[in-house]
Amino acid sequence: MSKYDVIVVGLGAVGGAAAYHLARAGARVLGIDRFSPPHQHGSSHGDTRITRSAIGEGVEYSELALRSHALWREMEALTGDTLFLRNGCLTISGADAVVMHDVDDFFTNVAAAAQRFHIPTRTFDNAAAICTRYPQFAASPGDKAILDEEAGVLYVERCVAATLDLAAQSGAHVLRDTQVMQIEPSASGVEVATGDNQRFSAERVLIAAGAWLPGFVAGELSRHFTVTRQVLHWFEIKSNPERFRPENCPVFIWQLPRRGGIRSSIYGFPLEGDAANGLKVTHEESGPATDPDHVDRSVDPVAETMRTYRTYIEPFLPDLGPRSVRTATCLYTRVPRSRFIIDHDPRSERLLFASPCSGHGFKHSAALGEALAEQLTLGQTQHVDLSPFRLERLQEYLRAP
Ligand SMILES: Cc1cc2nc3c(=O)[nH]c(=O)nc-3n(C[C@H](O)[C@H](O)[C@H](O)COP(=O)(O)OP(=O)(O)OC[C@H]3O[C@@H](n4cnc5c(N)ncnc54)[C@H](O)[C@@H]3O)c2cc1C
Repeated sequence: MSKYDVIVVGLGAVGGAAAYHLARAGARVLGIDRFSPPHQHGSSHGDTRITRSAIGEGVEYSELALRSHALWREMEALTGDTLFLRNGCLTISGADAVVMHDVDDFFTNVAAAAQRFHIPTRTFDNAAAICTRYPQFAASPGDKAILDEEAGVLYVERCVAATLDLAAQSGAHVLRDTQVMQIEPSASGVEVATGDNQRFSAERVLIAAGAWLPGFVAGELSRHFTVTRQVLHWFEIKSNPERFRPENCPVFIWQLPRRGGIRSSIYGFPLEGDAANGLKVTHEESGPATDPDHVDRSVDPVAETMRTYRTYIEPFLPDLGPRSVRTATCLYTRVPRSRFIIDHDPRSERLLFASPCSGHGFKHSAALGEALAEQLTLGQTQHVDLSPFRLERLQEYLRAP
């Protein structure tokens, strides 16, 4: 049986980054994935992800994002790939706006984080100011906006592929299309068994299995996770495509007004390439809970696409038409209050796990991977603080009024 310092289970955004930084630090590392990342089955696909650095979800996330930006740039220099387009993130909010990621004061937090971390921003105090600069957004009276300039687009599949290339170049063993079936800690190490009857052992195991994580952690932990199906939409651009080019259109998050069946915010990306490819813009689905092995991957053109267009797109982005150019499905794995949990499994100090980050983790994955590698090799982190994501901190949050 081969023996490693660390086995990483799951080589998506977080696990891939951890494998890279572990190998770079000289650890003997084996990374195992049941598919061949980047792939379409988990949470890290669909061309793009938003990155921002003035983070509305809480003050503890900004240093992760800022560290990740430095790491994405470093990876671009090492691979020659473009991973991060910095064209800003516009957050729009207004009277009686929906809550974003379970945080009541999301918009206020963005401004506070920008001030605290010296992140350059521009503010737009009313609808007229928003529409003058960004005529593609039909803002309403009472709307205001803030542009986080240290923000933009991450090319999600390219980021995952670059991370795994760098991991392999740094000496990580990468095993694809191999499903981990069992993780058994003991006093002397951890044994990992795969579906094709291979067995490996390691001093420690990092579980970064995304939407499949709940199946690997202790029972009392798994109840904190809810997996939901999300639909990505690319709608036709029927007029003014130039308004959506990256120089005129930052990535955007819009906390819509609570009316006409609206339950969540929308988010979208600039147009790159042929305008006929449509604009990626969608809203967050709240449920029901699903099983990652039995997700309905088909998208209903009326109940889903047309409803999304009529409710969430047409009133706010009048240049977009109802024709769906493309759709995709993806998985969110939420923790209450949209938190992250990164901690040891109560069964053993040898098992560290990283939750799939409640629908806002991709931007942080580079720094999370680095910090997890530091935690596993040095027993502490050097660049960012992971203590806000301990299980006990989640429990404190849940007890708070
Ligand atoms: C629609 C959508 C939009 C999003 N938008 C944003 C955004 O704009 N900005 C942002 O920052 N975040 C966003 N997120 C969240 C972000 O994408 C996730 O937080 C992040 O991708 C999670 O990474 P992960 O490594 O935990 O999971 P994944 O990347 O899914 O990786 C988990 C890996 O574990 C593997 N695995 C599972 N079980 C096993 C097993 N038994 N054996 C071996 N391997 C296994 C899987 O094959 C997979 O490759 C979005 C998510 C979705 C779904």
